[in-house]
Order: sequence, then C-alpha cells, then structure tokens
Amino acid sequence: MADNEETDQEHGETGLTGLADLHMHSTYSDGIYTPEELASAAAAAGIRVLSVTDHDTLKSIPYAAGAAAACGLRYIPGVELSARQGGRQVHILGYGIRPDCAFLAKRLVEVRNARLIRLQEILDKLHKLGIDLAVPPPKDGERAVGRPHVARAMVAAGYVSDVEEAFARYIGEGRPAYVPQPKMTPAEGVELIHEAGGIAVQAHPEEVGSPELVLELLDELPYDGIEVYHPSASPERQAFWKGEAEKRHFLITGGSDLHGTTGRFPERLGQWKVPLQNITAFLACFGIL
Ligand code: AMP
Ligand code: ZN
Ligand code: FE
Ligand code: FE
Repeated sequence: MADNEETDQEHGETGLTGLADLHMHSTYSDGIYTPEELASAAAAAGIRVLSVTDHDTLKSIPYAAGAAAACGLRYIPGVELSARQGGRQVHILGYGIRPDCAFLAKRLVEVRNARLIRLQEILDKLHKLGIDLAVPPPKDGERAVGRPHVARAMVAAGYVSDVEEAFARYIGEGRPAYVPQPKMTPAEGVELIHEAGGIAVQAHPEEVGSPELVLELLDELPYDGIEVYHPSASPERQAFWKGEAEKRHFLITGGSDLHGTTGRFPERLGQWKVPLQNITAFLACFGIL
C-alpha cells in the first residue's frame, strides 16, 4: 500500500503530518455525527483538509465550513449524488460546488422528496414482512433520509442485531424490502455538479460492483476525477484506479466514507485517512499546497 496511509494507520503516527479525509456523512444525511463533531474529531485525528459530502443535500456545507475553520482545518465544500445505471448505484462526488447554486438546490429538493416516498415504500414492505417501524422523516426538509436510518431503527427495535444484518436480510439490493432510489443518471449527476461550478468525481468505483460499467462511464462522461482511495478498494484495486485516473489525466481523491455506523469500518473519524501527497493535483485546484 505504498500509495496510502497504511503506515500511519498501523503505527498510529497521525500527528499533523499532512492528512486529508474528503468523504464523510453528517446528520444532514445518513451519518450520526454533526458537522461540528466531524470537524473537531478530524482536527483531533491530525487531519488538515476536510470535506463533508452529505447525500443529496447542500445544507451541511456552511456548518461544516464554519466548524472546520474554527478547528484550523482547510475545508472543501462537498456533496455526494446518488445516480443509477444498469441497475447499479453510481455515486458521484461534487467538490467546490457553490452551495447557493439554485439549479442544483432545486433538483436536490426533488431527490430528497423522492427519498421520503421511498422511505415509506420500504416501511410498507417491512410491515408486510411483520416488521413495524417508525422512522420519522427528518424535521428539516433539507436533510436527506436513507436506508441507514431504517437499518438503525431496526437495530433499536431489536429486529436485527446490527446495521449490516438489516442490509443483508431486508433492505440491501435484491432483499425483500429493497426499494431502489428513483433514477438520476450519472450523466445528469456530473452535469449538475458542473452547473454548480464543482469538480465531478466518480465515488468509490469498487462499490459499483462492475468495473466494466465504471470504465465505460469514465470514457463517456466529462468526469474530472476518481476516488482512488476508499476503504472498499484493496491496495491492488487502488493501484488499478490510480492508473485509470492517470491515463485520463483525471484528478485523484480519497476519503473514508465515514457514517459512524456501529460495526461498519470506519466507525470513527481518523481511522482511515489519505496523505496529502497522494492528492496534490486535487488540492491545488483549491489553492491548498
Ligand atoms: P441509500 O442512499 O438510502 O440507498 O443508502 C445507501 C447508504 O447505505 C450508503 O451511503 C452506504 O453507506 C449505506 N450502506 C450500504 N450498504 C450497507 C451495509 N451493508 N451496511 C451498512 N451501511 C450500508
Ligand atoms: Zn450514506
Ligand atoms: Fe457513496
Ligand atoms: Fe458516501
């Protein structure tokens, strides 16, 4: 793992030696920590550059930016859009987006409303399976609800022992209470990010489950980068995606995808980080380094 921070992780030598985490979720989508908690945990873990990338909402950006500044961290505004193609989830990260972009904000209102309808469909399917759950919609319409909220409610009600089991038995793809998210195509996702002045990055290519599909998308769409460093990719697969990024002159990014979900790695911020030297071209886009 020459290109990653394994040494830092293994030896616990974090310090202020130049680490970043560019992918995580707060309570504005399906993470359990507030933006303020994420920023202070990042500072404590020796992270210097932070991006909070909530699903389908821009609402956390000002809070996370303020908290990061208060902790002495560099902050890059971020979002993660959920697209689908060929029956597979294709997530697209947007960095440096204008949080006041009306075009993007308007589309995300539709996406969050569709998520609420889907939540009800999931709860109806669970009900038919004898599982009665109350998952109150977020108080604030600018927060995005997702399957982790359902999974945590199932754990709290004692139907499953952990979130992983909820996905594996009930709400994961192909399981009896699975409901796909309404469609946004990857093409639309990339376009929305560009419309908002951002950099469009293919998130966690390994998690798509089809390298062929990802390569096709990378060839066809005007992406700007690939999230090479992510817990889902082995060192060999990171090397593969790094090669694909270099071939295309794409930017390289990385992040932990922290949600704070019990039992799902990483549970705590700082357990998985990226050395700044692995993502220098990306950082240079934001005047960092
Ligand atoms: P949604 O956006 O509602 O489709 O939910 C997707 C989210 O669920 C992703 O952000 C993942 O982090 C999370 N997720 C997917 N599979 C699992 C799993 N097996 N265990 C825990 N979380 C998962
Ligand atoms: Zn998530
Ligand atoms: Fe994702
Ligand atoms: Fe994510």
